[in-house]
Amino acid sequence: VNHLVYPLTGMAGQWAGFQRSVTALERVLKVLEQPVESKKLPTYDPINKVGLSIKFTDMTFGYDETKLLFSRLNLEFPAGKKIALVGPSGAGKSSLFNLLQGLYQPHSGRIYLNQMPIEDLTMSALRSSIAYVAQETFLFAGTIEDNLMIAKPNISQPEMINACKKANIHEFIQSLSDGYQTEIGERGIKLSGGQKQRLAVARAILKDSPILLLDEATSALDNESEHFVKKALNELMEGRTTIIIAHRLTTVRDADIIVVLNEGRISGIGTHEELIRENDLYQRLNKTDFELKEYVSLSLAAND
Ligand code: ADP
Ligand code: MG
Repeated sequence: VNHLVYPLTGMAGQWAGFQRSVTALERVLKVLEQPVESKKLPTYDPINKVGLSIKFTDMTFGYDETKLLFSRLNLEFPAGKKIALVGPSGAGKSSLFNLLQGLYQPHSGRIYLNQMPIEDLTMSALRSSIAYVAQETFLFAGTIEDNLMIAKPNISQPEMINACKKANIHEFIQSLSDGYQTEIGERGIKLSGGQKQRLAVARAILKDSPILLLDEATSALDNESEHFVKKALNELMEGRTTIIIAHRLTTVRDADIIVVLNEGRISGIGTHEELIRENDLYQRLNKTDFELKEYVSLSLAAND
């Protein structure tokens, strides 16, 4: 009898092990099965166009574990306002954009859109909440239409034309021999900086996100382009929460709030008039298109 028990207990042990791995596998499958898009979208009322508020609470982050960029940063951007972000090169302006877009996660603390922590949003919900107009517009080889489609697949012709009209680029596109089917890039025509930017604005209009992140171009556009880009952007910003990494006096003057960032900390918040009076760093930034390039090397030199 005894010798029969051994193989059975041995089998029982194997069975238990097998069951354990089954439950582990089931857990993995359960996670994989979960619908990725089941999470709630942030509340955004396109009729009222109130935008979304953005809040960083006690946010700590660094690209390198040993060197923190933000230490318990608290910063709130009210819904529907135009906020200009200024600060020396390396202050963390672009990093705030990276974190907001979920490209990096804070070590601790939270980022909220309205009352919703962004980690509770799906990547696609977060992506559709934010339109980002970069300093350099990325266009790929293809037609103008192809380049607009990436903002919103399945757009209708009237939608596309309407967006391009608002972006002040429709007339130019129409003047081309193949119109919206004109090839751009290596095999096609080359667009000017201003034309590229207006296409970027058209993309953002098509995307229709409640939050707009803008990295203002540092390179000067010709006067006509500048005028049209500005007009297009003003239209786009209407009713959205906009954060602009600003390089122009006209931009900061137009902003509802200016945030001065320095080495990951807030050096000042206010209007242009207030900051000019009260903030030494802002005064210096004002003289150098709102981004001191030499500042980083100066502070590095001081550490040597
Ligand atoms: P700003 O946009 O104000 O010039 P950034 O947010 O680009 O500042 O940079 C803040 C700091 O983080 C700088 O010290 C920069 O070198 C560093 N940094 C930025 N992006 C990265 C990255 N992808 N990986 C590592 N370090 C980065
Ligand atoms: Mg930057």
